Amino acid sequence: MNKIKENIQKINAQINQASHDTAQAKNQETELSSNNRQKPVTLLAVSKTKPASAVEQAYLAEQRDFGENYLQEAIDKISQLSHLPDICWHFIGPIQSNKTKQIAQNFSWVHSVDRAKIVRRLNAHLSESNQQHNGQDTSLNICLQVNISEEASKSGIMPDEVFSLAEVVDNCDKLTLRGLMAIPAKNAGVVSYEKMQHLFKKLQAQYPTVDTLSMGMSNDLELAIANGSTMVRIGTAIFGKRT
Ligand SMILES: *Cc1c(COP(=O)(O)O)cnc(C)c1O
Repeated sequence: MNKIKENIQKINAQINQASHDTAQAKNQETELSSNNRQKPVTLLAVSKTKPASAVEQAYLAEQRDFGENYLQEAIDKISQLSHLPDICWHFIGPIQSNKTKQIAQNFSWVHSVDRAKIVRRLNAHLSESNQQHNGQDTSLNICLQVNISEEASKSGIMPDEVFSLAEVVDNCDKLTLRGLMAIPAKNAGVVSYEKMQHLFKKLQAQYPTVDTLSMGMSNDLELAIANGSTMVRIGTAIFGKRT
């Protein structure tokens, strides 16, 4: 068995264990049983800096969702791998407003939306082209990136800006508001994760399309799942260290 396949199986086992532990802890708290289940956690394989051949190996190991940070690199891979029918591409990197057209045309999801200008431009490009988006449907799935540990150096909106930006997305006919994304600071502790879960639940109560909390990477997967993550973004633990 190749290394990438082995890593994916290991991570999936880790995700299942963490989800199981979380469900059990919850049931003990609330004394509810099986109908208290959450949406299963999706593994997003982050393939930035890795070649198309590595993505294809992961695909052959039944991985379908892939995350990319750098637009040009991503577009090259997307076109090289266009023969893979149900592969799903997520943009997770910082967004320059002059790149919104290519992002809208090539991706099914954008996790790193952090301002109204970007939201409007993504929607406008999809309305303009009025074509089938990414060969599938016309709607682009949107997560708002939240700077949950309030770090000066990080992108993302502040927690108190979530609801106004969510409204902008919800008013766009070509976009579907799916949820929130965060990269908690390394030293932030559990508080950042709890705050994200709280924000996510509030947003979910307001918008029926919201079902995704994109949180957790190779080093904090368990903590993220324990705090309600529904999608973990894993690079290194699948594809190895980036050079
Ligand atoms: C690179 C990256 C990841 C993956 O990080 P690993 O530590 O390699 O698992 C996840 N999310 C974002 C936004 C990234 O840029």
